[in-house]
Amino acid sequence: MGKKAPKKLINEEFYMRQALKLAQKSFELNEVPIGAIVVDANGKIIGRGYNQVETKNCQNKHAEIIAIEKACKKIKDWRLNSCSIYVTIAPCVMCLGLITLSRIEKLVYGAQSPLYGADLDNISFPNLYKKHIKIISSGVLEDEAKQLLKRFFKEKRSSHGSKFRTDQEKIDRS
Ligand SMILES: [Zn+2]
Repeated sequence: MGKKAPKKLINEEFYMRQALKLAQKSFELNEVPIGAIVVDANGKIIGRGYNQVETKNCQNKHAEIIAIEKACKKIKDWRLNSCSIYVTIAPCVMCLGLITLSRIEKLVYGAQSPLYGADLDNISFPNLYKKHIKIISSGVLEDEAKQLLKRFFKEKRSSHGSKFRTDQEKIDRS
């Protein structure tokens, strides 16, 4: 005790907290709560996104995709070299593909995803995706991301009936 947390960790938590705030926005819209932000090399947030699959009726409205689109628009370049992305739960394969293709160098996520998260710790997971992202950091504010997700599905169980059932079962098993 009394030991200061390394600066790197404080920064990661700071950005993850911003992503969690966005996840909360999804929650309020009756969306599975997932948030993402893109940060440039100077530490500036250049893109924000939160899950809007239900609102926009399309599975490509994941938090990461929206955050990346905004970042590219902001810097007028699809190459996000030396940028980082913070996501509250592990990205799915679609988003991981976009993160890789956008040349994002660092991926930080909170909790593992019981939904469609890519299993990055699995050694058989395609190296093609992993090797292009220089740093992958996980478990940042993990509990908060996990609790938000659990709370969402608990509430939906009582209100929205079957709409979220498939995902709910996955959360229950996690
Ligand atoms: Zn995704």
